[in-house]
Amino acid sequence: MPPGLTQFLSDYPGMSIHPSTYAGLELRGTFAFSAQPPDRPLITDSYSLAIRVPPTFPAALPAVTETDRRIPRDGRHHVNPDETLCLGSPLRLLLSLSRRPDLPGFSETCIVPYLYAVSHRLKFGGPFVFDELDHGAPGVLRDYMELFGLDYPQQAHSAWSLLGMKKRRANKRSCPCGCDRRLGRCAFNHRLRPFRKLASRSWFRANTP
Ligand SMILES: [Zn+2]
Repeated sequence: MPPGLTQFLSDYPGMSIHPSTYAGLELRGTFAFSAQPPDRPLITDSYSLAIRVPPTFPAALPAVTETDRRIPRDGRHHVNPDETLCLGSPLRLLLSLSRRPDLPGFSETCIVPYLYAVSHRLKFGGPFVFDELDHGAPGVLRDYMELFGLDYPQQAHSAWSLLGMKKRRANKRSCPCGCDRRLGRCAFNHRLRPFRKLASRSWFRANTP
């Protein structure tokens, strides 16, 4: 059972466990929420969702699909080509999840902000109200530059590849911060450390932006 399942089912009574051949747990139904971020209007809305929670959750991220197709599939509402919702960059989502690693935590920090932004846009138009994450590699790399505190996409890319290596090997490589030293000799080393705790080396290798 994924952590927080009972709380999730009580927080979102329109959702229930859906029998499926999927190896993890599939939750389906009406996902109703009410949210009011600072200086934003209160929005109460609901969407039909299917949430696939992998057996390794919270080490791996659930995949969320919207089954009513209320969210426009026009390339501007963060729906991936495989129909899953693009809730944010994978590392950003893992980071949010690590702060509250259970289903209610995932719902509140990853699903609700996305749905709030979609409802806000459908109601009032304009851009997405959360930091716009462009589709594809450039947007994701910009997000990683911010997470790592680096200035250029190429640096974020190098930092990412170091996270896919064993620490000892990575420490011998040149540091991506531009200091002209080896990673092991730069304080940037410490900035990468928390990300090593978030995901495995193979996860970083498999999710190269
Ligand atoms: Zn450095």
